[in-house]
Amino acid sequence: MPTVLVVEDERDIRELLRRYLERAGFFVFTTPSGAEALTLLTAADLVILDLGLPDIDGTDILREIHALGTLPVIVLTARSTTEDRIHGLELGADDYVTKPFSPAEVVLRVQAVLHRYSGPPADVGPVTYGDQRLRIDESSHQAWLDGIMLDLTPTEWGLLAAVATAPGRVYSRYELVNRVRGYEYVGYERTIDSHIKNLRRKLGVTGADVVQTVLGVGYRLGLTQDRS
Ligand code: CA
Repeated sequence: MPTVLVVEDERDIRELLRRYLERAGFFVFTTPSGAEALTLLTAADLVILDLGLPDIDGTDILREIHALGTLPVIVLTARSTTEDRIHGLELGADDYVTKPFSPAEVVLRVQAVLHRYSGPPADVGPVTYGDQRLRIDESSHQAWLDGIMLDLTPTEWGLLAAVATAPGRVYSRYELVNRVRGYEYVGYERTIDSHIKNLRRKLGVTGADVVQTVLGVGYRLGLTQDRS
C-alpha cells in the first residue's frame, strides 16, 4: 500500500485529502508543518505539498525533495498563473494542482504519478523477516511469528506493519501515530508506548528484540527482511 504524505497547513484540506486518499487505498499521513515534513519525507512514496506554508517556503521543501532523488511530488497552490506553474514544474514537481481543486481529481493524479514511477502495483505475497521468523501479509492484515499466527488489534497490526516497512529504520512515535491513525492526534503519542507493550507481549519472549526501542527516538524492527 503506497504511503502518501500530505503537507498542508489548512486542516480542512488536509482532512479532505486524507479521506479521499484512504478510500482509494493509500496509507496517508499528514502534517501542517514544513519543518516536520522534512523529517517525514523518507517514509513517503509520494508527497502532496502545499507551497504556501507558514513556516518554510514550499519551494525550499521542493528542493529538498528533489535532492532525495526519486520521491514524486504533487504541488498544491493558490498561485494560479502560468509562470508559477512552470516554476513549480522546473523545481521538480511531478504535477501541479491549483486551489480550489476536486479531491477526486487529486487522487487520480496521485495514482497517475505513482503509476508513472513504478508501473502497475504488483500483488505482493507475504513478506518474511529474520530468516522466516516473522511473516507479514499486507493483503490479509495477518502476521505470524515462529509459525504462530498473531492475534493483533488493528492498531497493533498497524504498528508492526509500519516498522516492517523499512526494517532497521527508526520510526518516531509521531510517525507511528500518523501511520496507524492517519493524522496528528495531540496526546496520542504516549499511548503508542502501551500499544507497543501489548504488541510485544503477543510476540512472546523475544518481543522486545523484534520491536526494539531506540531511546529518545522511537521504535524499529529488529529483524532484517529476507530476500525473496
Ligand atoms: Ca497554505
